[in-house]
Amino acid sequence: ASPGPRVWPPTPDPNPALQIPQRFLMGPGPGNSDPRVLATQSLPLLGHMHPPFLKIMDEVRQGLKYVFQTESNYTLCVSGTGHAGMESTLVNLLEPGETLLVGNKGIWGARVVDMARRMGVNVVDLKKEAGRTFSLEELTAAVKEHRPAVVFLVQGDSSTGVHQSLAGVGPMCAEHGALLLVDTVCSLGGVPMFADAWGVDAIYSGSQKCLSAPPGAAPLFLSERALAKVRGRKTPVASYYFDLNLVGDYWGWYGSRSYHHTGMVSMWYAMREALAIVAEEGLEAGWARHAAAHDQLWAGLTELGLEHFVPAPEDRLVTVNTIKVPEGVDWAALCKFAMERYAVEIAGGLGPTAGKIWRVGIMGYNAKPANIELVLAAFRDGLAAQGWAKK
Ligand code: PMP
Repeated sequence: ASPGPRVWPPTPDPNPALQIPQRFLMGPGPGNSDPRVLATQSLPLLGHMHPPFLKIMDEVRQGLKYVFQTESNYTLCVSGTGHAGMESTLVNLLEPGETLLVGNKGIWGARVVDMARRMGVNVVDLKKEAGRTFSLEELTAAVKEHRPAVVFLVQGDSSTGVHQSLAGVGPMCAEHGALLLVDTVCSLGGVPMFADAWGVDAIYSGSQKCLSAPPGAAPLFLSERALAKVRGRKTPVASYYFDLNLVGDYWGWYGSRSYHHTGMVSMWYAMREALAIVAEEGLEAGWARHAAAHDQLWAGLTELGLEHFVPAPEDRLVTVNTIKVPEGVDWAALCKFAMERYAVEIAGGLGPTAGKIWRVGIMGYNAKPANIELVLAAFRDGLAAQGWAKK
């Protein structure tokens, strides 16, 4: 008999135990997960349709209602990272040929433009210089001119460090028949969000930032108006995996529960715990803790002679801080120094800010005084190592 195919040797060598260094993830994300959240991921698996697991999914939906500050029953976690939330909301809320107005002031707006064009949506790309936000007047004028079906804004832009105010935007969109969709990937849990009171129609977020869970879940919310749009579409949702008519049914939006895809069992345990931690602390206390850490960071950075990238104080995001790289300083060498000396991650710019700034994340479990002190020590010593000093 012929010997048959040979078995390849395993690669890589499976014998050494997986060793992961401890790092302080103080960039724009992921941040460090809360150990309580990580511990849930080693609990035994349940079947994705088992009643105790469906109960956990219901609890995740409840926890999301609290963080979004909504009474809408249409909350769930999309299986995937922030991009899955982005793609889900776009593909469900828009039909081919409809108009999307994108408030584009960083890399996320640019990605939404790209994604929506792939879906055959008519995109109006409203651009804004990096580091600035849109005024209500600018948005109103664009909505009146273009009559979009959906308006997209990023609340916390991690590529520039700006916080887009949503004041008045929801009612203005409603008045002109548009739905308001907001990206809160790096802001949810860190800064205020009042989905109902602000008239927001759809939100997506991410698990790995201010919610302090690992990457892999995209919290999502729809208002009654947004759900009506999804239920009343003339064309089927082009993505099966992200079709909220189907995914919503698995999460119990429509009364029944049916299998759509295998729920991310351990990930939903993690989200259940992450949301419980947010509720235990209370949203207001959590927002205040983030703001205090931001103030502590900037007191120290200012002392060192470093400056904000975002010119207007009211536009500065608490959760992702953007710092100008001074003349003559090698930004990448400072990031390397911070990692080697202190195991602290400090990130460079992204998209429009690449090479011009550093980015420091203050998110969830990491928003505490000791972490901020470590970041400041890394800047102080890293700048000194390059011979840079405040003039
Ligand atoms: N939007 C914003 C504001 C983000 O910060 C990020 C992640 N950096 C994303 C969207 C994309 O999320 P993810 O990388 O989890 O897919």
